[in-house]
Amino acid sequence: MRREGLAPMSVLSAPTTSASAVSVDLGPASALSCRECGQRYPLGPIFACAECFGPLEIAYDLPTGDPEGLRSRIEAGPASIWRYSELLPVPADVATKPNLNPGWTPLVRADRLAAELGVTGGLWVKDDSGNPTHSFKDRVVANALEAARAFGFTTLSCSSTGNLAGAVGAAAARAGLRSCVFIPHDLEQGKVVMAAVYGGDLVGIEGSYDDVNRFCSELIGDPAGEGWGFVNVNLRPYYAEGSKTLAFEICEQLGWRIPDQLVVPIASGSQLTKIDKGIRELISLGLVEDRPYRIFGAQAEGCSPVSRAFKDGHDVIRPVKPDTIAKSLAIGNPADGPYVLDIARRTGGAVEDVTDAQVVDAIKLLARTEGIFAETAGGVTVGVTRKLIEAGVLDPTLTTVVLNTGDGLKTLDAVAPTTGPTAIIRPDLDAFREAGLV
Ligand SMILES: *Cc1c(COP(=O)(O)O)cnc(C)c1O
Ligand SMILES: [Zn+2]
Repeated sequence: MRREGLAPMSVLSAPTTSASAVSVDLGPASALSCRECGQRYPLGPIFACAECFGPLEIAYDLPTGDPEGLRSRIEAGPASIWRYSELLPVPADVATKPNLNPGWTPLVRADRLAAELGVTGGLWVKDDSGNPTHSFKDRVVANALEAARAFGFTTLSCSSTGNLAGAVGAAAARAGLRSCVFIPHDLEQGKVVMAAVYGGDLVGIEGSYDDVNRFCSELIGDPAGEGWGFVNVNLRPYYAEGSKTLAFEICEQLGWRIPDQLVVPIASGSQLTKIDKGIRELISLGLVEDRPYRIFGAQAEGCSPVSRAFKDGHDVIRPVKPDTIAKSLAIGNPADGPYVLDIARRTGGAVEDVTDAQVVDAIKLLARTEGIFAETAGGVTVGVTRKLIEAGVLDPTLTTVVLNTGDGLKTLDAVAPTTGPTAIIRPDLDAFREAGLV
C-alpha cells in the first residue's frame, strides 16, 4: 500500500452507522467512498477507510441530464462559491446561513506577464488573494463549516500552516461557533495575528506543521477533542471539496472552457487533486467540452517531496523536513502527494520546484507586470511557470492559468529586505531633482 501515516486510531473514533449520520442534509452528497478500495460509508465525520485506511471522498447524486438548465442556474446564482452549491456537499439553502461567502474571485488576463514569460497562447492568473481572509482557504473552510453544523460540532478546529487558522477563526466567528486552531509557533506575524484576531483560541506548537498535524490526529482520538470538527482532519472529505470551486470558476470565467494548462501549488496536495476532480465533474455533467488538459504542481525547493518523487519516477513520497519561506506550502509529508503524482502523469503535466530566491523574484515579477501582490505560494506558482517554460515542459502556445492562492501582505518578510523606497528626500523640489528620478 502506498499510503502511510494514517493512524488506525482515527478510524476507531469514527461513529458507526448511526441514525443521525443517515439523516444529514448535505445537498447532493450521498455517502463517503474510499478512494483506494471503493468501500462506502454513510456521511459522517470520518476521513479514513476502516478496511484499508485509504482517504474517504464524497460520493454524489449529481444533477445530470439537463446541462443547459444547470448552467443557467449556476450563472444566475450568487457571486460566491455557492453558485455551485448543487455540486458541493452543502444544503441547498447554504447561501442564507451565516458564512463568509468566499470565492468568485477574479481571473485576471495577464498579458504583460505573458509577454515577459514568452507565453503566446493566453495567460491568466486566478487571483484568490481577495477572499475574505485573503487566501484560498476560505473556500474549503466554508464547505467544512456546513459539515460541522450538520454533525453538530460546537468547536471548529484545524492544524494549519497559517492561512487555514485565520480562515477557521473567521468562519467560526461569523457562524457563532467556538474555534481553537493549531499552528507551528514560528509562522509569519501576519498569519499569527490573523489567526488570533477573530477571538478564538490559537495554540502555537513547538514543532513543524507535520508535528502539529500529528498532534491534532491524537486530539481527535482523545476525549479532550470531543465535539470538535477539525476541518482538515475529521471533516477533510467535506473540506477538500471546496477546492473544486477553483476549477469551476476558472472554467466558467473562460466561457465554460477548460484551459490547456494549469499551474497549482502543492502543500498537502488536496487542492490540486480536487481541481482535477472538479474539471472531471464539469465534463461528466456536460458543462464543458471534454478536451485534454495538463496539471502542473508547484513546490518550493525547501519543501519539495512531491517534485522529488515526480522527477525520480517514484510513486511513494519520501517525507522531508521543510525549510523555505513558502511556509503556507511547508508540509513535509503531504497526504495527497501520491494522487498528485498520478494526476500530473495522467494529464501530461509535471511537478517542479523553485528556490526561495526565485520565489521572491516571481512575487516581484507578478506585482510589477500585473499589479498583483502574491504571498510566497503565488511566487512559487509563477516561479515554477517560468522555470517550466524555460525547460520546454510547459507549452507557451497553449492557454495557461496560474493560481495565486494568497495575499502578499501576509508574507511581507519575504520581500521586505529587497523592497522599499527608491529615495528618501527632504520635501523640496531641489532634493527631488537631485534624487535622479526625472
Ligand atoms: C493551503 C494552501 C495551499 C494548498 O494547500 P493543499 O494542502 O495542497 O490543498 C495553497 N496555497 C496557499 C496560500 C495555502 O494556504
Ligand atoms: Zn478502503
